Amino acid sequence: GRRYLIAGNWKCNGTLAENEERIKVFNEAGAIPENVDVALCVPSIHIPMVLSKVRKEITVGAQDCGSNDGNGAYTGEVGAHQIKDIGCTWVIIGHSERREGFGMAGEPVELCAEKTKVAIKNGLKVMFCIGEKKEERESGVTMEVCAKQMAPLAKAIEAKDWESIAIAYEPVWAIGTGLTATPEMAQETHKSIRTWVSENVSPEVAEAVRIQYGGSMKGANAKELLAQPDIDGGLIGGASLKADFFNVVNGIP
Ligand code: 13P
Repeated sequence: GRRYLIAGNWKCNGTLAENEERIKVFNEAGAIPENVDVALCVPSIHIPMVLSKVRKEITVGAQDCGSNDGNGAYTGEVGAHQIKDIGCTWVIIGHSERREGFGMAGEPVELCAEKTKVAIKNGLKVMFCIGEKKEERESGVTMEVCAKQMAPLAKAIEAKDWESIAIAYEPVWAIGTGLTATPEMAQETHKSIRTWVSENVSPEVAEAVRIQYGGSMKGANAKELLAQPDIDGGLIGGASLKADFFNVVNGIP
């Protein structure tokens, strides 16, 4: 079976002192169940602090990387090679907030696919985010949207690279809104995503790839979501800034 993957995405939150305090809380939050991988994707500037303070059962990741493969004149970028070198395991790529651009130019899915290829080449694991907007769900095109986001990825990487990928299904309308997909709704989409991977990559990859749910996941709703057969974990924003994150970790079946 697939191991669960519960990851926190801290987004652009916290001073150094506040985030040190969060690490302290998570270090003291009790044992991590045997069948779950726990990761924290923190602001890049806090990665060295988190790596030095967090207990070793929790892996660390960045929230984005450049598409550059190695050093170069890319002012402001953080390269996958640097994220790996400093000791991270993970990088989130293609989060909807980056794809939408929060007021700036957003990242096209082809760029997200290219970044993923570079990240894997440099030894990182990737949480690759997909998901539909409210209007898209309402007009019944959820799976078409997810397929369009995954197709450039499937083209950019090789079958063996999928070992280094987790797909994070994050319906955009559920992110930061308190509106969670119902377990049934999420399961239905996760199943369709797995079927897409089976048909467009291979049945073996589809069986093995972990699909995390993201969007207002918290201790109070995690158990039911994680009980679904195709939900293999979570990518948690707001609740990962609080002790409640460990209620999600402890909610795995
Ligand atoms: P919230 O858990 O705050 O809805 O955020 C989800 C998310 O975007 C995780 O990447």
